[in-house]
Amino acid sequence: MAGVIRRLDETVVNRIAAGEVIQRPANAIKEMLENCLDAKSTNIQVAVKEGGLKLIQIQDNGTGIRKDDMDIVCERFTTSKLQTFEDLTGISTYGFRGEALASISHVAHVTITTKTADAKCAYRATYCDGKLKTQPKPCAGNQGTQIIVEDLFYNVTTRRKALKSPSEEYSRIVEVVSRYAIHNSGKSLSVKKQGETMADVRTLPNASILDNIRVVFGNAVSRELLEVGCEDQKLTFKLNGYISNANYSVKKCILILFINHRLVESNALKKAVETVYAAYLPKNTHPFLYLSLEIAPHNIDVNVHPTKHEVHFLHEDCIIESVQKHIESKLLGSNSSRTYFTQTLLPRPSVSSDVKPSTSSTAESSERTYAHQMVRTDCRAQKLDAFLLPKEKAASASQASVEPVSRPQPPAQDTDEMDDADMLEALEEQETSSEPRPGTSSDTLDDYSRKRPRVAQKEKQEDLTAADTPRRRVIKLTSVRELRDEITELAHTGLQEMLQNLSFVGCVNPQWTLIQHHTKLYLLNTTKLSQELFYQILIYDFGNFGVLRLSTPAPLYELAMLALDSEESGWSEEDGSKEGLAQYIVDFLKKKTEMLEDYFSFEIDEEGNLTGLPLLLDKYTPIMEGLPMFVLRLATEVNWDDEKEFFRDFSRECSQFYSIRKQYILEPEPEEEEQDTELNSWRWKVEHIIFKAFRSLFSPPKHFSEDGSVLQIANLPDLYKVFERC
Ligand code: ADP
Ligand code: MG
Repeated sequence: MAGVIRRLDETVVNRIAAGEVIQRPANAIKEMLENCLDAKSTNIQVAVKEGGLKLIQIQDNGTGIRKDDMDIVCERFTTSKLQTFEDLTGISTYGFRGEALASISHVAHVTITTKTADAKCAYRATYCDGKLKTQPKPCAGNQGTQIIVEDLFYNVTTRRKALKSPSEEYSRIVEVVSRYAIHNSGKSLSVKKQGETMADVRTLPNASILDNIRVVFGNAVSRELLEVGCEDQKLTFKLNGYISNANYSVKKCILILFINHRLVESNALKKAVETVYAAYLPKNTHPFLYLSLEIAPHNIDVNVHPTKHEVHFLHEDCIIESVQKHIESKLLGSNSSRTYFTQTLLPRPSVSSDVKPSTSSTAESSERTYAHQMVRTDCRAQKLDAFLLPKEKAASASQASVEPVSRPQPPAQDTDEMDDADMLEALEEQETSSEPRPGTSSDTLDDYSRKRPRVAQKEKQEDLTAADTPRRRVIKLTSVRELRDEITELAHTGLQEMLQNLSFVGCVNPQWTLIQHHTKLYLLNTTKLSQELFYQILIYDFGNFGVLRLSTPAPLYELAMLALDSEESGWSEEDGSKEGLAQYIVDFLKKKTEMLEDYFSFEIDEEGNLTGLPLLLDKYTPIMEGLPMFVLRLATEVNWDDEKEFFRDFSRECSQFYSIRKQYILEPEPEEEEQDTELNSWRWKVEHIIFKAFRSLFSPPKHFSEDGSVLQIANLPDLYKVFERC
C-alpha cells in the first residue's frame, strides 16, 4: 500500500524551521542580544534558569517597541530593519529577517514588556507560535525592553533531549554574553543565574575592550596582548583587535571573531592565524585572539545559514591573507627579543642552491616578494655593530711585539687563489724543474737534518723578487698527505656552502658570531671554527709559511716558567721543580729548531729565544697571552715520536694558540690612536680575516653540525609561515 503524502501542519513546519534557527538557549540569547544592541541599548542584563531551558530573561534600556507593533513582532518576516530585498545587501544591523523572535515563540512561551521613550507607560504581552496570546497590557516599567522566554523546546522533545546538561548550556550562554560584552566596550553587559545576586560576568559602561578581556579571561591573557589594527582600501575592510604574543599560549585556540559586529565563526580565518602562530608557539599550544573585522556590507553574504554563524564574504582569501600578514608583522615586531635555540639544521647544497635570494629591486617590482622570501645579500647592509656601543677600541697587544716579515712566501691569499688544478700544475712544475726537495715520502723526523740541503734552499727562496711568482714547496710527506685527506674526507659540503655564501651579522663576543644564510640565522662558534681553520692552514701550507717575527725575542725559559706558574698547567710537586722542567723544555725545543723552523716557521735562536712564529693568515697575529701555554704544551702534549702524530699534534696546539678565544675581549685599549685601531680589534679580525678565510680556505668538518659549533637560531620561513589554503 502506497503511503499517502500529506501536507504538514503549518505549526509543525514552523516548529521545524524554528529549530533550525534556535538550536539551543545560547542561540536564542545571541539573537536577543543582537536585538538589544540594534535598539541602541547601553545596559543589557541576562538572567537564566536551568541553563536557559527553564527561563531566559533579557532586560535592556534601548528604544523599546511601539505598542502598535507589539502584535506583530513575533510574526515571521516582520522586522523594523528591512523593507526591500535590496536592503539586504546593505544591511548593517544584526537582525534582518524578522525570524528570531518568531522562531523563539514557536518553541517557547514568550513575554515581552517594553516602553518607548514617548510612551506614558510600559506594555506587556505574551506570545505563542508567532502570535499574540494575550493583548498588550499597560504596566509599570522603564524605557527599554524585557523579554522572557520560558520552557524552551517544551513542544520539541527531540531537540530538548539532544541538549546537554543545564550547566553545559549555561557555560555556552556565559560565553556568548561575555564575547558580546568584550566587543561592546562602553556598554554594560551582565549574565547571571536567576536568583543569584552576583553576576558571573559583568562589564562596566566605561571599560575598554582590554578591561573587558581582563574581566572575562583574566590577567594572564590580557597582559600578553598586542593591539592589532589595519585598513585596506582596495579590499574595503578594517581590522581591529587584540592578539596574544609569542610568550602566551593556551591548549585550545580562542578566536573571538566579530564581522560587522556580529559574533561569527570562520574556519578559514582560524586556520590561517593558527598557521602564523605555529612558528612561534610550542607544539600543540594555541593563541588567543579577539578580532573585529568590518567589511563593506555589500561584500558579505550573511544569508547563508539560518544560524548566521559561519559567514562568508567576497574576496575572502585576499582578506584572510591580509589579516594574516598583519598578524605576522605584529608578532615579529614583538618577538625580536626572543631567542630560539633549536636543533642545528644545516643546509643541503642541493636545496640551498635553488634558493634565489631576492634583491631589493625585485622586492619593489610588481611581482610580489614576501618578507619571508627576502634575504639580505649585501654584506654592507647594517650589521650588529651598528647597534652596539661606540666602536670597539680594543687593539692587539701582540701587534706591538710581532711583525710579519716580508719574506716571499705563499701566504693566505696565495693559497686562496690556488685551486686543485693550479696545485697540480705547480706540483708537476716543481717535480721537473727544481732540485730534490727535502721531505720526500721516505723522510722521517729523525733523519730530517741529515738529508736536508736546507740553507741553500732558503736562500733561493729569499732571492725571489716581487715579479717572480712565489713557488710553493711541494710536500710529498705521506703523513702530511694523509692529514690532508682526513680533512677532505670529513668536509661537510652544506656547511662549506654556507660559509662561502653567508652574510656576516655581527660578533656576539669573541666566541660567538651571528651570521645569516639565506633565510636562516645561525650562531657560529668562532673559537672552534677558527681553531679548525688554523689547523687546516697548518696542514695545507705545511712547509710554506711566512714568519711573524717577534720584535723582542721571547726567552723560552721565561715562557715555560710563566706557563708552569699558571693554574692551567696543573703543575704539582711530583712533576719536579719548575726550573728543571723549564730548562728541559728549552733544551728539548732547541734540538728540534731546524725542523720546526723549516716546516712551521717556528724560529728559535741560539740563546733559546723564540724569535718567529708561522704567519698563517695575512694581517693576523695570535694573542700573546696564549704563548706560554703553547710552549709548555709543545713539550707535554705533543707526540714527537711519530711523524704523522707529531704534525697533527703540533698543528692542533698551534691552532689552539691562534684561535679566536675569550681572552680577546681582554685586549687592552691602544695607547696611541695613530694606527688604525679598528684593524687591531678582534671584531675586525673575526669579520675581515677569519670569516674571509672561511670562505676560501676552509673545509668545515661534519662534526660541527652535531656538536653545537653551528646553531640555527631562527628560520624566516617559519616565522613567516605562509598561509596554506585547504
Ligand atoms: P530582526 O531582528 O531580524 O528584525 P527579530 O525577530 O529578531 O527580527 O525581531 C523582530 C523585531 O522586533 C525587530 O525588528 C525589532 O523591531 C523588534 N525588537 C526585538 N527585540 C527588540 C528589543 N530588545 N528592543 C527593541 N526592539 C526589538
Ligand atoms: Mg533580531
